[in-house]
Amino acid sequence: MTDRYAVIGNPIAHSKSPRIHAAFAAQTGQDMQYDALLGRLDGFAETVRDFARNGGRGLNVTIPFKLEAHALAHERSARAEAARAVNTLVFEQGRIIGDNTDGAGLVQDLTHNLGLTLKGARILLLGAGGAARGVILPLLQLAPTSLCIANRTVARAQELQHEFAPRATSMGHNCALIGCGYDDLAGQSFDVVINATAASLSDDAPPLPAGLYAPHAAAYDMVYGKGRTPFLQQAAADGAEILADGLGMLVEQAAEAFTLWRGVRPNTAPVLQTLRAELSVS
Ligand code: NAP
Repeated sequence: MTDRYAVIGNPIAHSKSPRIHAAFAAQTGQDMQYDALLGRLDGFAETVRDFARNGGRGLNVTIPFKLEAHALAHERSARAEAARAVNTLVFEQGRIIGDNTDGAGLVQDLTHNLGLTLKGARILLLGAGGAARGVILPLLQLAPTSLCIANRTVARAQELQHEFAPRATSMGHNCALIGCGYDDLAGQSFDVVINATAASLSDDAPPLPAGLYAPHAAAYDMVYGKGRTPFLQQAAADGAEILADGLGMLVEQAAEAFTLWRGVRPNTAPVLQTLRAELSVS
């Protein structure tokens, strides 16, 4: 019987995940089916259990269910625990295992696809929501010189600083971890600036001071499909040399989930290239 997978979210019609996983399956010769599942806002757990009961092997989880998926899982990976959110579920012998592949996807896109060196870099992470939380640990593991988390609601950035400080210290890289507000960034410069806020979804950008980008710096917006977002426009005007959106992160987090489910790693480059070409003509 063909193994069944799906992405569950609400809304879900826009999701590119079914196409990405169909391409991975064709490329690696895996016999699997991957659909889009509209989750009921008041019935997420029931939909997941039904899917598993009917032979489902795994799910990707997207907005707004990542926290519920975390709560539903019987077991969670260390990176899902750190993120406090789950974007990948594996069903194994009646148990639900939760993982989070977003951070690994971002890191793979930054280091492999964009060729950035994060060891020794000064990184600025904008936002303190689920997406930001999920990438802190994977970024710290790359031994940057500093990781500054800046957020509109400053207390949320400071909470992340306090929560992750012991992890940063235990890694022994001497990485400075800072939580602050946007005003505190004046006079500082960074090698990589990552926008993990939802501002781009409403054609907005965090209010950043000028002079933020060091020579050859990169600006990365986790949002994709919105063209050059206000954040990326601001970064270009402020001298960022490399500008990237989150399409690569989307494809790479999918590849990480696919590898977890199927035990074989797909080649992401042709899939990313196809999606990129489609976005540029739409
Ligand atoms: P979330 O938990 O709702 O957090 C939203 C964050 O954005 C908060 O830090 C919030 O600040 C900030 N924010 C919202 N509007 C803002 C504005 N106008 N100006 C400044 N800050 C603003 O959302 P999330 O789950 O972290 O997702 C964030 C973004 O990442 C989304 O756009 C999502 O699409 C994207 N994402 C992309 C991928 C990918 O694969 N490419 C994966 C995951 C997420 P406050 O704390 O002050 O409210």
